[in-house]
Amino acid sequence: MGGQAAVTVVGLGPMGTAMVKAFLDRDYRVTVWNRTASKADGLVAKGAVRADTVDEALAASEVVVLSLTDYDALYAILGQATGALSGRVLVNLTSDTPQRARDAAKWAAGHGAQYLTGGVRVPPSGIGQSASSTFYSGPQGVFDAHRETLEVLTSADYRGEDPGLAALYYQIQMDMFWTSTLSWLHAVALADANGITAQEILPYASDTLATMPDFLAYYTPRIDAGDHRGEVDRLAMAEASVDHIVHTASDSGIDTSLPRAVLEHIRRGMTAGHGADSFTSLIEVIKKPA
Ligand code: NDP
Repeated sequence: MGGQAAVTVVGLGPMGTAMVKAFLDRDYRVTVWNRTASKADGLVAKGAVRADTVDEALAASEVVVLSLTDYDALYAILGQATGALSGRVLVNLTSDTPQRARDAAKWAAGHGAQYLTGGVRVPPSGIGQSASSTFYSGPQGVFDAHRETLEVLTSADYRGEDPGLAALYYQIQMDMFWTSTLSWLHAVALADANGITAQEILPYASDTLATMPDFLAYYTPRIDAGDHRGEVDRLAMAEASVDHIVHTASDSGIDTSLPRAVLEHIRRGMTAGHGADSFTSLIEVIKKPA
């Protein structure tokens, strides 16, 4: 192999496929394995090596990147080749919960493998680009030793030794992503019900989201300091505002469950005595499950 860097990629969904292409572009010797073997055909044509078995895939490279739907898939695949795990560095870029990441790290250690968790922050089109970023956690020495390989995929943002940390940071981002994208879809549906297209809404939707960094920068230190004084906004005002949205949505004949969920949070805050506080006081409501 003449010193050529080698990596194995297990899992050839859209993400794993993009990763294989990025490694091939950088002249890595890339071994691939996928449950549905035919998904490797196009990559083999580009120079990847297809492993016929999981054992073979693990034996081919020290660094084994996993890109699967969830951790059940990981155990289903690696569970059939535990004898080949010793000495491997598993880089698990499969999303799941922090606890499942910690359990998987223990499981891997029990079979003699080192383990890094990753949380990829971009879609497949962002793979192979240094402007993209991935959270990593696990043993610092293992991360440092393989950083160059990991940075073929995206920039690497190391979060700490706890293997759950990368998954936790990832889920924190996803918590925002899904709620905010659903709120955008709700707004588009409200526009659509009134004969306004998503395209017409685009500049206004973009403007609203563009205000968010300033908004977060103002409230973040106050939240960290536990300061919820209603100096610039009051929860009672938010209640009236969201009530207007619920009625506008209802009058437009669309689903109201999303703004009603927001209203329900606000009303719990009001009941807890936060009516004159900032909306950030709702964090106290969220921290105490109903
Ligand atoms: P997919 O769900 O398309 O990945 C599927 C891969 O998992 C395939 O290789 C599939 O094999 C394999 N798989 C699923 N179940 C099993 C099983 N029981 N046994 C064996 N193999 C199994 O996901 P993506 O490629 O889109 O993403 C991979 C990971 O990256 C996910 O964890 C995702 O959350 C994360 N991610 C994805 C992003 C995206 O935009 N796609 C963005 C950021 C993170 P087969 O081909 O045989 O079905």
